[in-house]
Amino acid sequence: MSESVPRPLPIVDGDSRPFWEAAKAHRLSIQRCRTCRKYVFYPRIHCPHCHSAKLEWRQVSGEGTIFTFTVARRPAGPAFQGKEPYIVALVELKEGARLMTNIVTDDVESVRIGQKVRVTFEDLSPEISLPVFKVVR
Ligand code: ZN
Repeated sequence: MSESVPRPLPIVDGDSRPFWEAAKAHRLSIQRCRTCRKYVFYPRIHCPHCHSAKLEWRQVSGEGTIFTFTVARRPAGPAFQGKEPYIVALVELKEGARLMTNIVTDDVESVRIGQKVRVTFEDLSPEISLPVFKVVR
């Protein structure tokens, strides 16, 4: 029943294609500004810190900390039915940028702000692998 509702997939466009191509290869790659050297996420044309257009793609460590999170106890839609409870989190990468993501865990009650996490990938389709994070014990 609910299993027949497919999970919505991201729309890959010109700005985000390098992110999704790296993710497909299970690598986390985000933009870095060549002018101010800050990392940037989500993908865009101009640096949000200094407005430079000199953004380059860099593979990052995949290590970070939980900046904040919420436990979703009701599914966000029929495609997420049966996956609750699950965690929607803002992870701050070691490199400084923050990503909206999921924390994968079988114990949502054990998750805390400030915990160290590492990226892993959920293969959603042949083209899309989703970067999600696991707490580092
Ligand atoms: Zn910049």
